Amino acid sequence: MKDYRTLAPEDLRAYLAAQPSLAEKLGGSPSDWAIREVSDGNLNNVYLVSGSFGGVCCKQSLPHVRVDPSWRMPLDRAAFEARYLRCITPYVGHQIPKLLHYDDVLFLIVMESLTGYQVLRGALNEGIAQPGFSARIGEYLGHTAFHTSWLARRFEDVAPEMAAFSHNHALIRITVDLILTDPYRKGCSRNHWLAPELDDLVEALQSDKALHVAVGHLQERFLSAPEALLHGDLHTGSIMLRGDDVRVIDGEFALYGPVGFDAGLYIGNLLLHGLACPEHADWMRDEIIEFWRAYKTIYSEQRRAYLNHGDVQSLLDENTLPRELTRSFHGFMKDIAGFAGVEMIRRTIGYAQISDYDRCVDRPARADAMRDALQVGRSLILEARQIETVEGLLAML
Ligand code: ADP
Ligand code: MG
Ligand code: MG
Ligand code: MG
Repeated sequence: MKDYRTLAPEDLRAYLAAQPSLAEKLGGSPSDWAIREVSDGNLNNVYLVSGSFGGVCCKQSLPHVRVDPSWRMPLDRAAFEARYLRCITPYVGHQIPKLLHYDDVLFLIVMESLTGYQVLRGALNEGIAQPGFSARIGEYLGHTAFHTSWLARRFEDVAPEMAAFSHNHALIRITVDLILTDPYRKGCSRNHWLAPELDDLVEALQSDKALHVAVGHLQERFLSAPEALLHGDLHTGSIMLRGDDVRVIDGEFALYGPVGFDAGLYIGNLLLHGLACPEHADWMRDEIIEFWRAYKTIYSEQRRAYLNHGDVQSLLDENTLPRELTRSFHGFMKDIAGFAGVEMIRRTIGYAQISDYDRCVDRPARADAMRDALQVGRSLILEARQIETVEGLLAML
């Protein structure tokens, strides 16, 4: 901590020049490297550096929230992001930026630069994303959810990893507060919404005792169900694509938790996009269906392949596995529904809102989309325990 300093572009140039493997990757003279800031999230500084040969992406933690210097924040989130990348590389290495270097004094990650890729949220809003990206995300989650779980490895190997991620307190706290608490609290200064159009619905959400009980159950699931290593922030701004090459970025919120949390955030963001941008609504439904199909296919294949795996002692066999898979998919879907619901509400009235609503043609259209999002979100949360299939989830629309 004591030697930490926030790197300005010229500091970054000198830093990279002093790392032979990174300087070689960039190529040419350091004074010719182009450095461009691309920070767009709430938390960190991100720079793309390109040389005559190649490029790298540098992400550094700041001692505060990037968009609010008065909100102090520990630096260690970069360590959790680097650890997440290392843990999942064996399973989905082709779907993440390659980790090139991690500096634990500067809390600096140097990774593969995804040049020519676009952030999915922006690509959706501009109408230039190619359909089919959700199958890649389903595969990503199918692999990470299975391979980091207790079903794929000896508990002696999983437990220390779970323990390490359990220290990601600052960002777990953000999730508990910003997603799972604040939007339901009257007078919380971190909430804001389109007023007066949403006033009545916000008042209703913040007075709804049954809803608060259901959100309380989701808080408990989030904190007390360490099923697998989660990304923890899997919204459409944490995905980059170039054609059909789809990469997941920004794993700093990683923790062991319920698998339906990642899938729920992702699906919640597709549902929000479909409401904000009605000409994409059918497309987003198809993406959700394809996501779920791909997730189930990969997850089932992997579990079947591990029935006779030396490291795990499964008591299942070819006959008992199918019913067990159905049971577990029904359980995932209940969590997905609930977490999609809280995501839809917090992205509409909470601290970190989404640019998708800027797509609405005028203020009344925006208010309509936001009201729909709050109502769909509420239904998903209240009905979550009854939702076991993707058709059941889509019926809430
Ligand atoms: P934050 O945690 O602050 O949200 P992100 O990891 O989401 O930071 O990165 C912020 C932005 O930087 C992304 O939206 C994307 O535009 C860009 N970015 C992040 N990682 C890469 C990368 N490996 N290659 C190219 N651009 C990237
Ligand atoms: Mg981000
Ligand atoms: Mg971002
Ligand atoms: Mg982030």
